[in-house]
Amino acid sequence: MLSGLRLPERIGRLEELANNLWWSWHSQARDLFRVLDYPLWRLGGHNPVKLLREISTDKLAAAAADPAFLNLYDSVMSAFDAEMSDNNSWFATEYPNALAGPVAYFSMEFAIHNSLPIYAGGLGALAGDLCKEACDLGLPLVGVGFMYPQGYFHQHISADGWQEEVYEQLSFDEAPIEPINPVPRSHWCGPLIQVELGDRSVQIGAWQVRLGRDNLYLLCCDIEGNMPEDKQLCARLYTADQEQRIQQEIVLGIGGVRALRALGIEPSVWHANEGHSAFMVLERVRDEIERGATFAEALRNVQATTVFTTHTPVPAGHDVFPVSLVEKYLHGYWESLGISREAFLELGRQDDTSDQAFNMTVLALKTADHRNAVSQLHGRITRRMWHGLWPEVQEDETPVSHITNGIHVPTWVAPEMGRLYEKHLGQDLSRRYDDTDLRALVLNIPDEELWTVRQVLKRKLIDAMIERARQCSTGRECTARQVLAMGALLDPNALIIGFSRRFTAYKRPGLILHDVERLKPIVTDRWRPVQIVFAGKSHPADLPSKQLLHDVYTLATDLGFQGRIAFVEDYDMHIAHYLVQGVDVWLNTPRRSHEASGTSGMKAALNGVLHLSVRDGWWYEGYNGTNGWAIGDEVQACDPVEEDRTDAAALYRLLEEEIVPLYYRRDRAGVPHGWLKMVKESIGSIVPFFCTRRMLKEYIEQMYIPSAGKQH
Ligand SMILES: *Cc1c(COP(=O)(O)O)cnc(C)c1O
Repeated sequence: MLSGLRLPERIGRLEELANNLWWSWHSQARDLFRVLDYPLWRLGGHNPVKLLREISTDKLAAAAADPAFLNLYDSVMSAFDAEMSDNNSWFATEYPNALAGPVAYFSMEFAIHNSLPIYAGGLGALAGDLCKEACDLGLPLVGVGFMYPQGYFHQHISADGWQEEVYEQLSFDEAPIEPINPVPRSHWCGPLIQVELGDRSVQIGAWQVRLGRDNLYLLCCDIEGNMPEDKQLCARLYTADQEQRIQQEIVLGIGGVRALRALGIEPSVWHANEGHSAFMVLERVRDEIERGATFAEALRNVQATTVFTTHTPVPAGHDVFPVSLVEKYLHGYWESLGISREAFLELGRQDDTSDQAFNMTVLALKTADHRNAVSQLHGRITRRMWHGLWPEVQEDETPVSHITNGIHVPTWVAPEMGRLYEKHLGQDLSRRYDDTDLRALVLNIPDEELWTVRQVLKRKLIDAMIERARQCSTGRECTARQVLAMGALLDPNALIIGFSRRFTAYKRPGLILHDVERLKPIVTDRWRPVQIVFAGKSHPADLPSKQLLHDVYTLATDLGFQGRIAFVEDYDMHIAHYLVQGVDVWLNTPRRSHEASGTSGMKAALNGVLHLSVRDGWWYEGYNGTNGWAIGDEVQACDPVEEDRTDAAALYRLLEEEIVPLYYRRDRAGVPHGWLKMVKESIGSIVPFFCTRRMLKEYIEQMYIPSAGKQH
C-alpha cells in the first residue's frame, strides 16, 4: 500500500489502480504504468506500487500534462469502473440470485502476480488463475490464504551446479496489500482473531488484496503480542517441519473461517483447494453446534456446502500428520464438537492399518459432498486411490468427479499474440475464448504474421536470458561456464525446446538427457540444431531432487553441447511468461499416472508453442493426434527403468524424424508452413477447452450452485 503519496489530481486514481491487481491482467493498464517510467518499471519487477513510491514528481507532473498519457489513463479508468460496477456479467446474467453469499476459496498458495510472492508452483498458479476468472465472470468470490513475509525461496545455482536458496524479506510497503485493522501510525495489521494451537492462543491478522470486485484475505501471524516463534509461524511457504505445518494448517483452516466471520462475510459455498485447508470444516461444524445443532446435523450441513479439489495422485503429496501432533494441537477440539477422541480421529483415518495417522485428504473427502480431481485421467486414478473410503460402491462410482484444469488466458497470452488474435478472431475475443468456434477462426491467421510474432517472442526470451546472464556476471562471481549455462549462446533462428517446472523425480527432468551420445548429434547438428532450456526449483528439503537438478545442470553445461543447452535460474511467474511464450516446443515427461493435470503446457499452446508430452495429466485428453506429439504409448509401463528407456528412445525418434524436419522445412521466405499448420491446430483445439473460463463455468454449474442449493 502507498502512503503519503502526492499524485497530481488529474491522475489521482493511479494509486487505487496500483492497489487492485486487476491491472495485472489488463494489458492497457500495464501499459499505463510502463509508460510512466519504463526503467523503474523494469527494475522494480513490473510492480506499480513500488513504481509509484519511487517515481519522481517531475515525471508524474509531465504525465499529468501529456495528452497521450491522459487518453490512455481515461480509457483504462473507464474500463476499470465499468467492470467494477458491471451488473451484466456472465454470472449475474446466467445465474441471478443463485448464491446468497460468495464462494470462499481456501488455498495455501496463490500466484496472482510476481509482486506478491506467495506461491511455489502449479497449485498456486491454478488458484490465482481461478480467482482472476471469477472476477472476469462476475462470480463473487473471497480467497483465503497466507501472507508469507519470506514467501518461497529464490534460487541460485552455484558454479558446481548446486541449488542455493535465498530467502528475501518482502517489503510490505511495496506489495499490493492493505492491512485490516492497521496498527496506528504504521503500515501493519493488528490482530483480527485468535486461534488456539494446543494450549496456547495465537493472534492472527489479515491483509487484503483486491482483485477487481473480489478480495483475497491473507492471514498473518507476525502480530504484536505473539511469541517470537509464533510470529515466525507463517514466514515461509511449505516448511518441511511437520509440527510447524500442522500449526499453519490450523491457522489457515480454523483461522480462515474466523477471519471471514470477523469481517462479516457469510459465504454460501466453501471450497478447499487441496487438503491443506481442510480443518476449516471443523470450525464450521463447531459454529453450527454453538447455534444448537447436534454434531451429526452440523456435519451434514457443512458437508452439503463444502467443495474439495484434490490435486495429486502422488501419496507423498498428501499431508498426513501423526496422531500425536493432532492430539497436541487439537485436543480441545473434540470436546467443543461434543465427540470422542476416536470419533474425531476417524475423520482423518484412511483405513484400519493407519490408526496412527491423520490424513488431511481423507478429512476433506469425508467432510465435503462435492469432490473433484483435476483431469479426466486424474479422476480415474483418484477414484481408485480412495475407493477404500466407499467400499459399498464400485470403484468407478467412488464419488469423486473431475473438472479439468485450465489457464487464465489474459494472464498468459503474450501481448503480441493477443493483438494477433484480436485482429483475426475478433475484438470481443476476451469474452469468448472458451467458444469452440475459435477452432475455425484460427485458420484465418496468415502464416507469415503468426511466424513473425513467434520470432519476436523467441527473441524476447533470449534477450531476457542474456540480460540475466549479464546481471549475474556483474553482480556476483560467475564462471564462463555459468554464463554459457544461462543461455549466452542461444540462437533465435534455431529450434528451442523448453522444460520448466518443479524439479522432482516424477517429472523426470533428466529424461531428455537419458542417452547423451544419442542426444548430442541432435543438439549440435550444424544445419538443424536443437536447443534446450531448463528451469525449475527443487524443494529445499528434497535432497534427491537437488541431486537431480545438479545432474541435469552438469550435463547441460557439458561443453560438448556447444552452449545449446541452458538453465534459467529462479523459475517464477515472471520468467514463466517468457518461457511459455518464447520457446518452440514445450516438453513434459512425467512418469505415467503421476501428473494430476499440469497447466504450463496449456500456457505454451496459447502462445503458439507445440506440446511434446507423455500422455499423462491433461495431455491424456488434450492430445488429438495432430495438435502436438505424444511420447511413447499410453499404457502404464511396468517398471520405471524400462519406462525411462522406452520413453527416451521414443523422444529421440520424434525429434529426429518428425519435430526437427518439420521445424526446418521452410518456403523461400523462411516460413515453416507445415509447422504453423500444427500450431494452429494446437491453438484451436486446446485454448477453448483448457482455459479457466470453461473450467470455472464447470465449477459453478457442477459444484458451487448445487452446494449452495442444498443450504437449509
Ligand atoms: C503454470 C506454472 C506452473 C505449473 O506448471 P506445470 O509444469 O504444468 O506443473 C508452475 N510454476 C509456475 C511459475 C507456473 O507459472
